[in-house]
Amino acid sequence: MTDARTARPRHCVAVIGGATAGAEVAGRLAELDAEVVVFEMNPRPYGKIEDGLPRWHKALRRKEYETISGKLTRAGVHFVPNTKVGRDVGFEELVQDWGFSAVVLACGAWSDRALPVEGADDYLGRGLVYQNPFIIWFNHAGEAAYDGPRFQPEDGVLVVGGGLASIDVVKVLMVETARAALAERGIEVPMLELEVKGIPKVLKAHGLRFEDLGLEGCTLAYRRRVEDMPLVEAPEGATPERMEKVRGGRRKLIDKAMEKYRFKMEPLAMPDGLLVEDDRLVGIRFRRTRIEDGRVIPTDETFELRGSYVISSIGSIPEPLPGIDMKGELFAFTDWDFGRLEGRPTVFSVGNVVTGKGNIVASRKHAAAVSHDAIEKFLGLDESGHEGEETLADAAAEAAREQADRVADAVGRQPPLDPASVAKILERVHLRQNAVGYGGDYADWIAQVTPPDLE
Ligand SMILES: Cc1cc2nc3c(=O)[nH]c(=O)nc-3n(C[C@H](O)[C@H](O)[C@H](O)COP(=O)(O)OP(=O)(O)OC[C@H]3O[C@@H](n4cnc5c(N)ncnc54)[C@H](O)[C@@H]3O)c2cc1C
Repeated sequence: MTDARTARPRHCVAVIGGATAGAEVAGRLAELDAEVVVFEMNPRPYGKIEDGLPRWHKALRRKEYETISGKLTRAGVHFVPNTKVGRDVGFEELVQDWGFSAVVLACGAWSDRALPVEGADDYLGRGLVYQNPFIIWFNHAGEAAYDGPRFQPEDGVLVVGGGLASIDVVKVLMVETARAALAERGIEVPMLELEVKGIPKVLKAHGLRFEDLGLEGCTLAYRRRVEDMPLVEAPEGATPERMEKVRGGRRKLIDKAMEKYRFKMEPLAMPDGLLVEDDRLVGIRFRRTRIEDGRVIPTDETFELRGSYVISSIGSIPEPLPGIDMKGELFAFTDWDFGRLEGRPTVFSVGNVVTGKGNIVASRKHAAAVSHDAIEKFLGLDESGHEGEETLADAAAEAAREQADRVADAVGRQPPLDPASVAKILERVHLRQNAVGYGGDYADWIAQVTPPDLE
């Protein structure tokens, strides 16, 4: 196949993953006149925006969906949905056989970091739950066609975590258990109302106090102090005074979140053993820690916390991809700025797959742009709901753009392909698109694969 675009030498780049980072780099490369093929494992390309951000971030999610779609519909971008690299197309094959000038990994971090207690994973589904499937379930629970694992928010769940995502988990638990307790009294309150107004305020409007619900609440255990929680990052080179301010800000955020959603905190608690009864995980034995010069020091003291079940929310890591060496839980990058791999000069990486963080808010470089107020809105601690939290997305977008620019620059230094080679790759791409039923019109496809009851 040849047309005006493919009639001259140009770059032809494969991008693995079509969400925030993948769409950003695809859009940037297309602007530079490359042909870009985006392989996305899911029907919809919204990644953690759809499956990591809880569904109460309605406006933020819509805005990000539009941004991603805008970039994936640029001239020169070829979308290949329902195609998992490592399953439907081999990574090795993509790098060696297809003939792309470069391959960019933008496949995010979809595995949960393992709860660091020996034997913990033996209790998966028997008292142990991980954060990623839990939030995916929460976001899709109302869809008739949802066929993934289902979870029951219960009172008294023990959550191990500490980052922004673990606050999302405790909020889901508290909002949903309060909603169920109200429903038992014949009071139906939408999830969003509880999330935006907060539990005590909604209860008050019905003449109730939290204590009246008979709920114990869930507990968030964290191995450092509350003021160390990575909710607001200190900017690079922060003075001791600035650091103290950041820590004070974190304390205030957590106090406010605990008041509004009524969860409990257990700081300075490091998982140390499993509490098992009748072959079920019923809690965790913790070791008390202290913090010395920023380091976590385990002490001799241990204590137990029980829970109706345990959710581990201690971070996401890349899913292993056959053909890519791992170093511990991460890909064995030789250069972390560009996400380069040993012996693979045409491979680059962007987004969560390299940062290993669930969000760019945690990026130190962009911390200054992320105000305390914006985080407060993001966490739902502001009276106005989440209005204005989009400024966070702007900081995240800027970080993604910088990374995409850098990689696009490096890709540009690879030799371009002759028109026949580009045409050959695109022919193969069209075959795959046909195989998955993608007719080439992105908007049509999205309309076709979006569940009618998706929130
Ligand atoms: C203000 C803000 C705050 C946020 N906070 C959080 C947060 O707290 N927690 C959180 O989880 N997210 C959060 N996010 C979402 C965040 O944007 C993304 O996690 C981040 O931008 C990373 O995007 P990514 O494209 O690198 O990864 P992802 O969004 O994970 O996208 C990776 C894409 O690759 C696809 N993919 C994976 N493997 C393969 C494969 N083998 N073959 C083909 N396709 C594949 C996936 O389906 C997915 O579409 C936040 C976003 C914003 C804007």
